[in-house]
Amino acid sequence: MPAKPANAARPAKPGRPAKSAGPKAPVGKPLAPDAAAAPGNAGKTAPCAQPKKPAKAAQTARPPKALRARAQAIFSVLAARYPAPAPMLDFHDAWTLLVATVLAAQCTDARVNMVTPELFRRWPAIADLAQADVLDIEAVVHSTGFYHNKAKNLKAAAQRVMTVYGGAVPQTMAELVTLPGVARKTANIVLGSAFGINEGIAVDTHVTRLAFRLDLTKSADAVVIERDLMPLFDRSQWADINHCLVLFGREVCDARKPKCAPAEASPCPLLELCPRKGLK
Ligand code: SF4
Repeated sequence: MPAKPANAARPAKPGRPAKSAGPKAPVGKPLAPDAAAAPGNAGKTAPCAQPKKPAKAAQTARPPKALRARAQAIFSVLAARYPAPAPMLDFHDAWTLLVATVLAAQCTDARVNMVTPELFRRWPAIADLAQADVLDIEAVVHSTGFYHNKAKNLKAAAQRVMTVYGGAVPQTMAELVTLPGVARKTANIVLGSAFGINEGIAVDTHVTRLAFRLDLTKSADAVVIERDLMPLFDRSQWADINHCLVLFGREVCDARKPKCAPAEASPCPLLELCPRKGLK
């Protein structure tokens, strides 16, 4: 696979927050577009939900100055730790990022990175995937889980890009979310990491968990979390804060065993800025 672009962003690996360590996710709901994508990954047996149009990000309100100042201090710490945050999914353009992000739903980025080389070897162009036999696509993406829906959505998305958007991945949120399997999170990732357009903040399980523990939101709903986070960060920071939270969530603020270590010599670098909401 071709090299990643310099500004590449890496979707997240949806972890599963511990019961007491974060907002409770709805139980028993079908997998919606983006449900676990952007980089994340949970169980691989539940069925994917049919694509549905995601809710618009709610209107943002101006946050209290102290909260924004704390959010900016958090960003500074994370930006110093991750000077060039990027997605962990391999991609080389908007289409390959979109495909990888769709496949990352309920699957690890590492697994997706093992699958996409074969996928793009067999169907290198969008037009190729649009004409592919869905059963052949299923065979290639099988190990990423939810392969029936993923294969169906990828083929349908390729067809729509070809027939409606002239073979080019659209560059607006409104257009992207019309593609099967693409909701606001995937669209944010594609816009921010492939096009350099900060339209919103992609919210996956890592962002959900950290935003809650850091008390940057009181919600477990991705649309509300995005609405809460956007005014806390400059627009130019939106893609980076997603990548930073994802990376930090994987390395330090784990779902089950966050490395707060307040009594240790090397505590979490965010310890003084973090109320550790939901943790004992
Ligand atoms: S102190 Fe660090 S590891 Fe602990 S909850 Fe806060 S951000 Fe996560």
